[in-house]
Amino acid sequence: MSEHVPFTDLSAQHREMEEELVSVFRNALATSQFIGGPMVEAFEQDFAAFCGSRYAVGVGSGTDALRFALIAAGIKQGDLVLTVPYTFIATTEAISQAGAAAEFIDIDERTYTMNVERLCGFLERECSFETATGTTIHRPTGRRVRAIVPVHLYGQTAAMDGISELAERYGLTIIEDACQAHGADYFSTRKNRWERAGTMGNAAAFSFYPGKNLGAMGEAGAVTTNDENIAAKVRALRDHGQGRKNYHEVEGYNGRLDAIQAGILKIKLRRLASWNGERRRLAHQYNEMLSSITGVATPYEPEWSRSVYHLYVIRTKRRDALQPFLAERNIATGLHYPLALHEQKAYRNLKSYNGSLPVSERAARELLSLPLFPGMTAGQQQHVADSIREFMSSR
Ligand SMILES: *Cc1c(COP(=O)(O)O)cnc(C)c1O
Repeated sequence: MSEHVPFTDLSAQHREMEEELVSVFRNALATSQFIGGPMVEAFEQDFAAFCGSRYAVGVGSGTDALRFALIAAGIKQGDLVLTVPYTFIATTEAISQAGAAAEFIDIDERTYTMNVERLCGFLERECSFETATGTTIHRPTGRRVRAIVPVHLYGQTAAMDGISELAERYGLTIIEDACQAHGADYFSTRKNRWERAGTMGNAAAFSFYPGKNLGAMGEAGAVTTNDENIAAKVRALRDHGQGRKNYHEVEGYNGRLDAIQAGILKIKLRRLASWNGERRRLAHQYNEMLSSITGVATPYEPEWSRSVYHLYVIRTKRRDALQPFLAERNIATGLHYPLALHEQKAYRNLKSYNGSLPVSERAARELLSLPLFPGMTAGQQQHVADSIREFMSSR
């Protein structure tokens, strides 16, 4: 009999805090304050403090957060925004919906985040920085390159020093996609200190989709920033462009954060550091169990990174056979992601000016996400590791 190992288990973490969570609903019932208000403001303050940013603005989802951050930072119709093709589609949806076009920069072979050499090569070979205006133009299309959206994938930040240096040199805005990286840290050699995801660009987007490291019980997201102007604009954008009630400075969106979700997030935020610690412990345990198996590569965590392991992702050329083998042994796994974005049907007409993106394409075929969640037992982990070993030694 093999033990069932779910991909994730939210009920374990919710059970021990059930009373506190239910009190959030009771409070909302008693006050009838369902959208915005003191619960949202209290959570925004706590989340900004957790990240170390001056502001956090609660919004309806991570996708809202990305879209509002881009618009608030001044991304305009027709601009080019540089990001990776190996991410969740929300990254590029937000870019398109802000009116810009996404340009793909391939990922690094080992970290799976934006390859800084490729970014540099793209900017040096295909773009010109115009000193008079301080703008960067992409020569083949004539579009203005406006921003970079690095994605902190699987809980690990992108290599931000190199990205920040290039952004400064070319006058570009940085919007971090931190939707998978609540509490992830990065050691900046330039600044000689650890920095937290959500504080390293002009603004950052977080998702509180239930399965994220900090998850709501429905949809929720937040923008963090140190820029007062961006924070004010995101506040207006989430609420139909209102500065004050019924006075609309701009056309905005319905993208507010529910009070109940904010109340839940505020309670769960107190446990986030401990959950992240448990994720790291489980990840290191997996590393020990799996590193001796030939044909399997465990996640690479550079010296400069403290990942929060939103996902624990291994690499093997036999991925497509391993996944059903594990399913037979009652082990749930995931693909993040089975196609690079430029291979998706939604983007079949997208012209990628940046040529081939082989590292992303290979990652999409070889990466497999294993179960990892706070509350996972040693027995469950052993069963996963034993099954992988059994599969890899067969042939
Ligand atoms: C989850 C996620 C998003 C979108 O967040 P939602 O809250 O689902 O809108 C964006 N980018 C990445 C990398 C994500 O993982």
